[in-house]
Amino acid sequence: MRLCREEGRTMHNHNMLEVNNLSKNFAGTGRETEFAAVDGISFTLDAGECLGLIGESGCGKSVSCMAMARLLPEPPARIAAGKVMLQKRDGAVVDVLKLSGRELRKIRGGEIAYIFQEPSVSLNPVFRVGEQIAEAVSLHRPDVADPWAEAVELLRRVGIPEPRDRVSRYPHELSGGMQQRVMIAMAIASRPSVLVADEPTTALDVTIQAQILDLLLELRRQMGMSIILVTHNLGIVSETADHVAVMYAGRIAEYAPVRELIDSPAHPYTKALLSAVPVLGKEKGRLSTIPGSVPSPANFPAGCRFSGRCALYAEASAAEQERCRNIVPEFRKVGASHYCACHLLRRGED
Ligand code: SF4
Repeated sequence: MRLCREEGRTMHNHNMLEVNNLSKNFAGTGRETEFAAVDGISFTLDAGECLGLIGESGCGKSVSCMAMARLLPEPPARIAAGKVMLQKRDGAVVDVLKLSGRELRKIRGGEIAYIFQEPSVSLNPVFRVGEQIAEAVSLHRPDVADPWAEAVELLRRVGIPEPRDRVSRYPHELSGGMQQRVMIAMAIASRPSVLVADEPTTALDVTIQAQILDLLLELRRQMGMSIILVTHNLGIVSETADHVAVMYAGRIAEYAPVRELIDSPAHPYTKALLSAVPVLGKEKGRLSTIPGSVPSPANFPAGCRFSGRCALYAEASAAEQERCRNIVPEFRKVGASHYCACHLLRRGED
């Protein structure tokens, strides 16, 4: 797994997904024309890998994941640039952004499956969970003779006790943890190559969170699928992911193997995020915070989008600040598979 930077490069056999320079614009209101909510996102995902996508709320994690399978309504969204190369189960490689109609529907919820934060909202309250899973089976695996029996098997596989009974229940008859397991059963019904889990445990109790994450990792091992785990929780990422991409305001600020990112963060934003995590047993004191908030996409600065909140920027010379404000920082390699987009990188490391 590494950052994908070379435009037009052929896809490696072990890569399940290559996202290259993905940019998604949204139509503005009033005098604005368009703004880039997702701007030049690039990464690769190997078969069986888990990539953690982290950042504060509103930094573009979910929008980027939805843009990959064109799940956002167009208009107001518009693909401005990029490629999303997916290796399908049959070995064929397709650019998801170039697909339309039936081909695109087969990819969405099929080869690329999604689990969202709030299962009670994602499940349809008027259908039994078995019907909803069986529908996903029929849609993506028409060769399955008995979708209802497959729904029972999928419930068993995601660890729901007494699946023959639970398959006939309505969502409101199940706990939050069980509802999320049902969502996972629906997601794996298509045997996806890539599973996007968007804050899958945020709405759950801590003990249930751990069970759901363990389940996702076990299913990854059994099925060989890759996972993109979207979260704002660095603890979850450190336990689960192989690599991490830190997102800020629609761009990737830093990308690294998970241990390296936590032990040796390079970007001022990553450092600020890590220092805001409470540590058990640490002497009491004021928890550090990042001043301000993620700017609105309509008001992104021309250069580095973190410049309004960056501690390193605040200490920089006038010339350096001008560069930060006006020129987009490019990725620089700071380790074997570690990249960072910051003009003052060397200075920050000293
Ligand atoms: Fe801070 Fe400048 Fe680096 Fe952006 S480019 S993170 S403003 S030092």
